[in-house]
Amino acid sequence: MVDLGKDVKYIKGVGPNRAELLNKLKIFTLQDLITYYPRTYQDRSKPKTLFECVDGEEALIEVVATSKVVETRFGKKTMQKLMIGDETASAEAVWFNQTYLKTKFSIGKKYRMYGKIDKKYRKIQVLSPVFDEYGFTQNTGRIIPIYPLTYSLSQNILRKIMENAIEETYGNILETLPEYLIKKYNLPSINQAIKDIHFPKELKDFQKARERLVFEELLMTQLALLKLKYYDIEKVQGIAFSEQYKIEEMTKQFPFTLTNAQKKVLQEIEKDMESSKMMNRLLQGDVGSGKTAIAMCSAYKAVKSGYQAVIMAPTAILATQHLESFENIFSNLGIRCELLISGISKNKKEDILQRLKNGEIDILIGTHAVLEDNVEFKKLGLVVTDEQHRFGVRQRNKIATKGENPDVLVMSATPIPRTLALILYGDLDISIIDELPPNRKKIETFAVTKRMQERVDNFIRKQLEEGRQAYIVCPLVEEGEDNNLKSVIELAEKYQKEILPQYHIAYLHGKMRPKEKDEIMLKFKNHEIDVLVSTTVIEVGVDVPNSNIMVIEDAQRFGLATLHQLRGRVGRGKYQSYCILKYEGNNDTIRKRMKVMCETNDGFIISEKDLELRGSGDFFGTMQHGLPEFKIANLFEDTQILKKVQIVARRNYG
Ligand code: ADP
Ligand code: MG
Repeated sequence: MVDLGKDVKYIKGVGPNRAELLNKLKIFTLQDLITYYPRTYQDRSKPKTLFECVDGEEALIEVVATSKVVETRFGKKTMQKLMIGDETASAEAVWFNQTYLKTKFSIGKKYRMYGKIDKKYRKIQVLSPVFDEYGFTQNTGRIIPIYPLTYSLSQNILRKIMENAIEETYGNILETLPEYLIKKYNLPSINQAIKDIHFPKELKDFQKARERLVFEELLMTQLALLKLKYYDIEKVQGIAFSEQYKIEEMTKQFPFTLTNAQKKVLQEIEKDMESSKMMNRLLQGDVGSGKTAIAMCSAYKAVKSGYQAVIMAPTAILATQHLESFENIFSNLGIRCELLISGISKNKKEDILQRLKNGEIDILIGTHAVLEDNVEFKKLGLVVTDEQHRFGVRQRNKIATKGENPDVLVMSATPIPRTLALILYGDLDISIIDELPPNRKKIETFAVTKRMQERVDNFIRKQLEEGRQAYIVCPLVEEGEDNNLKSVIELAEKYQKEILPQYHIAYLHGKMRPKEKDEIMLKFKNHEIDVLVSTTVIEVGVDVPNSNIMVIEDAQRFGLATLHQLRGRVGRGKYQSYCILKYEGNNDTIRKRMKVMCETNDGFIISEKDLELRGSGDFFGTMQHGLPEFKIANLFEDTQILKKVQIVARRNYG
């Protein structure tokens, strides 16, 4: 058997210099190398005649050299040209700055070339083709893997190294899955899968290889989570909170009656809290379903039982908003709440830390700031994290270490189908609020094309005249953060100068410092700003009840879950709210996706449909760091495999 832990520098063709470049790709061992999977493949196995080639495509041709390479020089650059031909036409192969090619070809010899075809009028050129002498298959004649990042390593060199690595390992890797699973699900062996994922002979070999590797990856993740749940967490002695102080007592403080869904969830939480098992629970509920009230109730129980609670929110403004809600309820009950965010003065902070340690603060609400080492509790019993997808599992665990096995409640507003919840949060028990408080007005949603621009602008103007506020979300720009920034500023300027000059327009984007962002959000909340133009940074649960319009530009570029989250920013007050999805493009999937948004306000239905329709918008885009990183699995596309894996995993943890 081969030692997969071996340093890459000892692989044939690597050596110390290339090892450094591989290290930059986080490839340190032989194992890392052979699991550096291709991003895509080019089929360079099916030759075309020059006659068949189409302008603009990349194609494999089999040609004879009919001239020597001629080099022309202009300035510092050189160009190499070679006349070639097959039985259907003659053509020209062209390279730039590749002087060494001058001696590479012999007149009359046959070559395979793969490159981009330029076919205008009657002239055919092949641009910078890769090639082999006929009969060799280093660069052509087969399906070629294309690797994601390579830095200064060329695709060719990385491919060669990979070939050596596969040659060394093929047949020598220990099987990682049990025999019965391989048989039952008809999977290729690990050796075959690794070979075929890099160098498939045919497309179906690649598909089988990928299926096996995805299966394995998902299974390992799932088993690890279940192990955590059944062996690690459940064995730990947690806190048994008092049965004397019932959550129901405190719900009388709310100006509303809880929905049945909220009541059901609270029962589940109360049971967990009273048992000596550590609570590790995920609370899923759509935007506006009333998760904050649940957090308050749990905190109440913890405090009444003599413990402290901490509530973590992803932004300062959200934390501040929570503090207000908490104080409204808790000030009457003699429960002391405090806010810890990075913006506060040093003195104030010292004071908070001191009181926290002395147990003079019952509930601490804050941002990442609460994770800092100098934040010490007297007796932490409950950790609540809001909008979970912004925090990673690691942060969740870090805060939990500030107490002795405190109960943990994770709240998420990203509704996800159950199959996915199991793989993302397999270590947690799951509670769902599947009902909104009564009398919520549906957010009226319209999907419109660019032609309706003027009517949309008039509509916004009319709402602003009535004293409302609006959000405008900028298109997602693919070419990076800087362009995103540009599009936000340009759009804001356009609205300020041309469309709504009499109103106060401001903008918000991800590159602003957190403090700037919070200032803008606060101004918007206080109605010093009428229209907020922004990137998706406003996504997280900020409450501005007076804003009732959400316009989303280029809506077809966003995943449905993101659209849903964004839309949830309005409809938080007493006014009828509207969401206007401006979209472009005429394909069926886009229209279906827009239709889903217009027809329903239910996040769970939307996430199911999103999975079904797949499409380009990535549902998980909204979840960011919360996700485990997969090398090959794609939760979005691999739901079938995921279902199989869950059956297997459950059998192992009956
Ligand atoms: P989210 O689940 O998005 O965090 P919130 O907790 O912010 O939702 O609740 C949204 C709004 O609904 C708040 O203004 C809250 O006071 C109100 N609310 C919560 N539960 C109920 C209920 N059972 N009946 C009426 N209003 C409620
Ligand atoms: Mg919330």
